[in-house]
Amino acid sequence: MSLSRREWLASMLGAPLVATLAATGCDAPVTRRRELAGALRGPSMEHGHLLRNAATTSAEAQSAASGPLHDVLVLGGGPSGLSAAWELLRRGVRDVRVLELEREAGGTSAFGTSAVTNYPWGAHYLPSPFRENADLIALLREMGVVTGLSSDGDPVVDEACLVREPDERHFYRGFWYAGLYPYAGASPEDIAQLERFKRRMGEFAALRDARGRRAFAVPVDESSDDSETTQLDRMSADAWLRRESFTSPRLRWLCEYACRDDFGMGLMTTSAWALVHYYAARMRDATSEAQDLITWPEGNGAIVKHLTRAVGDRIASSF
Ligand SMILES: Cc1cc2nc3c(=O)[nH]c(=O)nc-3n(C[C@H](O)[C@H](O)[C@H](O)COP(=O)(O)OP(=O)(O)OC[C@H]3O[C@@H](n4cnc5c(N)ncnc54)[C@H](O)[C@@H]3O)c2cc1C
Repeated sequence: MSLSRREWLASMLGAPLVATLAATGCDAPVTRRRELAGALRGPSMEHGHLLRNAATTSAEAQSAASGPLHDVLVLGGGPSGLSAAWELLRRGVRDVRVLELEREAGGTSAFGTSAVTNYPWGAHYLPSPFRENADLIALLREMGVVTGLSSDGDPVVDEACLVREPDERHFYRGFWYAGLYPYAGASPEDIAQLERFKRRMGEFAALRDARGRRAFAVPVDESSDDSETTQLDRMSADAWLRRESFTSPRLRWLCEYACRDDFGMGLMTTSAWALVHYYAARMRDATSEAQDLITWPEGNGAIVKHLTRAVGDRIASSF
């Protein structure tokens, strides 16, 4: 049986597209498609709707809904919920229940397994903690990742978990370039603005309020709430860049990337505070580079794995 050109295109591209192209008088592009196995991960609509319908599937979920009262219920078994439960247990609160919507805990820090290696589904690294990040250091000590303190009080991280030279690159008009900043073709003015931007972020990293708190810290709660810094939350990243005369399209692209990477939003909808936090919170002081990164084969799923083990059968899935 021979196929007409239109039938062949339909079989390759899908009939609706060919119909559209035919209607517009265009020739369909001949594209080679390769089916990739897999599925999009994301919240389970099916189980989310159970909440809307006030229904439950498993005996476990039913008993969680109508069963005995607990001292603390934690909703969501991502890193936030799991670490809340972990901290409660550390403080002696034993009757904690974590209710998770999905089959497995982990949220966007979940990981998968294969015959070759474990691998992250989402979050893949953690900046090394500063000495003042006591809770994170306690967790990483428990995991065996922080092995001690240096003579000047900084946490010592197991070398096997450190990435000292993360190899980032970007793809532009068909070519890969090293790093995240598009240096190729940058003008002297572009470079001057980039350097000025780095210095500005260094100043924010070094900024301390009257109580000695970092202006921009991780966790966010430890950042200063002085109006000097929080006023940046009342203007967009775009407005701040313009106010500071950061007009270089390449620099603006880099900042846009940062906003999309961490907040899923662009320069117009991300606050100036959040943009500055993205850079300044990761630097120890004005001149240092960003902290070394900690990672595992399963990315931050290693933390989920550890916390899940610690919280144990106090986690109830809706499945
Ligand atoms: C692609 C990607 C890459 C990332 N890379 C990094 C990285 O390299 N480093 C880094 O530090 N961070 C990274 N992040 C961010 C990191 O994954 C998140 O900051 C972190 O997982 C947030 O944890 P969370 O517990 O607050 O939320 P989530 O991880 O979103 O967890 C929320 C949990 O609550 C559950 N839930 C939701 N609704 C309900 C309900 N009604 N009842 C019960 N349970 C519910 C969800 O199923 C989920 O398990 C990345 C994120 C993504 C998506």
